[in-house]
Amino acid sequence: MPVPLLSEDRISQLPPRAQEVVEYRKSGLSLNHIQGCSLGCGYCIRHTYGLWDENKPVALMSDAQAVEQLVGHRYFQSHVTPIQVFNRATEPFLPRVPHTFAVLEDLDERELTNHVLVITRHQLNEDDIDRLDQLSHIKVTLLFTYSGIDDKRIEPYPSHVAAESLKLMSSPRIRKYRTVLYWRPLVPGLNDTDEHLAAAHELSKHADATVFTGLFYRDEIAAYYKANKIPEPYQGTARRKIVPEELEARVLEAFSNSAALFRKTSCAVSYVHGLPDYNGHYGVRELCDICPLSQLELCAGAHRTPTVEELHQVASVLPDTRTLKVIDITDRAALVSGLESEQPRYFLQHTLGFQIHDELHPHREKRHGRAEIGWTENLA
Ligand code: SF4
Repeated sequence: MPVPLLSEDRISQLPPRAQEVVEYRKSGLSLNHIQGCSLGCGYCIRHTYGLWDENKPVALMSDAQAVEQLVGHRYFQSHVTPIQVFNRATEPFLPRVPHTFAVLEDLDERELTNHVLVITRHQLNEDDIDRLDQLSHIKVTLLFTYSGIDDKRIEPYPSHVAAESLKLMSSPRIRKYRTVLYWRPLVPGLNDTDEHLAAAHELSKHADATVFTGLFYRDEIAAYYKANKIPEPYQGTARRKIVPEELEARVLEAFSNSAALFRKTSCAVSYVHGLPDYNGHYGVRELCDICPLSQLELCAGAHRTPTVEELHQVASVLPDTRTLKVIDITDRAALVSGLESEQPRYFLQHTLGFQIHDELHPHREKRHGRAEIGWTENLA
């Protein structure tokens, strides 16, 4: 049963960012015409879109209209742009969200070969295996969010469901879609005991790859924690995900015999499909020290530093890059300024497969684009 369709009038009352159905994020162009979720994870990104109170999914338009909007979007490029389906405002496998398959099948019928990322923590079943396996063009990656957090105030929906779904969906030996253990959010003092790390390592054996990452601890989420008397994990908030240095070292140690552990979502997604990283992280060489050798070679072969002219040429198709300035280009990344938002930056990054950094948000060496909280040295 499809979810209720909101009237134009109701849509116009939504927060402005919630009305934006297509939005470019680092891992891909994200489609979110279904909004509202009943799982109630305390750290949910919906807090930051003014959508937290919406716990019943609703549709802002039909699936056909939404896919048209996605593939007609100025940032969309057939076979190039990574796509994310329902990663911002709902859980894609809620029983009342049959829209996920409608979108995937529509994209597949168009014979698009883009990456499509679907992030879930919900229960999946045998029928889902069959239906997903019929998608033959798009490159589907299922990312199973698993944290091992058992504080019901933070995660009312238990982590073991995602673990079971990951095992089930990974079980067919031959399948077209790929699975990733999305081990997050890792929070010191909450889910980082040796037992937690060992459990995640055990679970990772079922997945095609594992990504570990921290918490997006934004102001809205901190306010929610305070209001609900949930112990605050950090003193301050940050615009990037937080992974303290010591915790990262312990994760690497726990996974020292693992062949497919990644720090970055796009690295894992690219790896499981046998492709070089579409975000060009290879330029940031210290990220690659845990990568399988075969993947390292693949990324090295694809790594090409663009010229200033090439960057401007790629940018010239967009209206929102007119004020773009290229400050510097090294083998590592291009440093730019003058972009109105982060979205065109991701367009450039994915088109060129090369890191594009904004002068306003400098990347610190060895910190892998993460927040400064929990890191002692300024190594830049
Ligand atoms: S070689 Fe580096 S950029 Fe490529 S997938 Fe591995 S970690 Fe990512």
